[in-house]
Amino acid sequence: MSDFDYDLFVIGGGSGGVRAARTVAATGARVALAEESRMGGTCVIRGCVPKKIMVFASGFPRHVEHARSYGWDASIGAFDWPAFRTHLHKELDRLEEVYRAMLDKSDVRVFDSRARLTGPHDVELADGQTLSAKHILIASGGSPVRPPLANADMGLVSNDMFMLEKLPRTLLIVGGGYIGCEFACMMAGMGVEVTMYLRSGQILNGFDEECRGLISEMMRERGIEIHTGTSIMDMSRESQQDDMPLGGESDAAMGAPVGEETKAEPQDALARNPKSETIARAGCPVRVKATNGRERTFDHVLFATGRKPNTEGMGLEGVGVEVGRRGQVVVNEYSQTSVPSIYAIGDVTDRVQLTPVAIREAMAFTNTVFKGMDQPVDHELVASAVFTQPELGSVGMTEEEARADREIEVYATSFRPMRTAFIDCPDRTMFKLIVCKETRVVLGAHIVSDDAGEWIQLIGIAVKNKLTKEQFDATCAVHPTATEEIVTMSQPVRSG
Ligand code: NDP
Repeated sequence: MSDFDYDLFVIGGGSGGVRAARTVAATGARVALAEESRMGGTCVIRGCVPKKIMVFASGFPRHVEHARSYGWDASIGAFDWPAFRTHLHKELDRLEEVYRAMLDKSDVRVFDSRARLTGPHDVELADGQTLSAKHILIASGGSPVRPPLANADMGLVSNDMFMLEKLPRTLLIVGGGYIGCEFACMMAGMGVEVTMYLRSGQILNGFDEECRGLISEMMRERGIEIHTGTSIMDMSRESQQDDMPLGGESDAAMGAPVGEETKAEPQDALARNPKSETIARAGCPVRVKATNGRERTFDHVLFATGRKPNTEGMGLEGVGVEVGRRGQVVVNEYSQTSVPSIYAIGDVTDRVQLTPVAIREAMAFTNTVFKGMDQPVDHELVASAVFTQPELGSVGMTEEEARADREIEVYATSFRPMRTAFIDCPDRTMFKLIVCKETRVVLGAHIVSDDAGEWIQLIGIAVKNKLTKEQFDATCAVHPTATEEIVTMSQPVRSG
């Protein structure tokens, strides 16, 4: 009989923590998991899932517009945000229950509590109870951060966007990364007037330059105002009239007046959200002075300025777990920390902040520590998608990265696909393959298009397996499709 209460204690019930807990429990080990908030973590409760459902919701006006151009007698009415939000939170409740049921079925002991480390094998729960485990896995995720700016708490963060009582009429988004751009497109699709302030010169830093350019152009075409090289200098509340409606003429269609934001929230999910007080504070418009010299008022300001690992107050330094400059838990290729019995996976390690990566890190941990395999985590050639409208799908090197240290050929095409060209819609699709001149291996693939997220998943298989341009070309095209261009780009547009 082990000297420990458990073989594994997991801190955090997000995608990574839950996967590790279940798979380790399946080996016959005794597993416990502590989660202080809702089971499912960022992805299920405050990120990917509600975001993607909002992406779907925001796309309908455009579908209807296109249907009309195709000859349908179609029109779209007002968007009922409160009805949508209620439905959304019911779905999140259902998913949370699914996660709890999976843990229960796997015989994982769940503690609905915050947990902190008190030793290499010890954790303490919020009620003072201490428990021991042979191994501890930190999977506490990350949280959005606001910039160091006076009154920054007047602005919202991404978590808050799923809890809004009503849609704003105007929204300022600060930051042009994944989250800023996705919310800009979703909100614009729902009829919100969106303005973005970027401190740098372009959205989506780190992605392929041409793709970034095309997406920002199309975002502007859809009415999103993007100001580059612009930051907030000062923020203040426009007025303290909490009953002042935010939504102008369309308030009735969009939901309740803002004065209702401070009322008790009837739904469990909303009431349980520890961040909901932020929404209550956001009772009146925010006046913003910017470095571009302009002063403007917005119903809400959203800070999409990055995320930080959740390591504060977890007792890490006290037990000797090394923490990096950004607050991340420092781990080796097996996700092991500087304390051998303690491991960490997912956003808390700030490696690649993506759900499928956290899940793979969980599986590698289980296989290495509990199944005796030697499985380092593979972070190479991870495909990802930004769910803007149009989407950006990307895997491997950008043209700029590849060009830095080798000779490359760039195969690229930008065209109006048949579906939208027929109705004279200006939307363009872009495909780009970055090919190593010497080995002919496709080093990177980048797609700007509706459904690019779906496509890059498939092209990711070819790029991950280091197929050559000639192997792409040997694949017969499927006609008529937009993606046939991927295997028919015969001449490089540039090389060097
Ligand atoms: P990102 O790092 O992608 O973007 C942060 C943005 O905020 C950048 O535009 C950055 O500007 C700007 N910024 C940072 N600090 C400041 C500041 N002080 N003032 C003004 N602007 C600032 O972070 P996100 O929060 O958007 O996303 C976090 C991570 O979550 C992503 O990296 C991704 O891994 C994950 N994610 C993935 C999604 C997906 O897979 N679809 C969706 C959402 C999130 P600059 O460019 O100048 O640095």
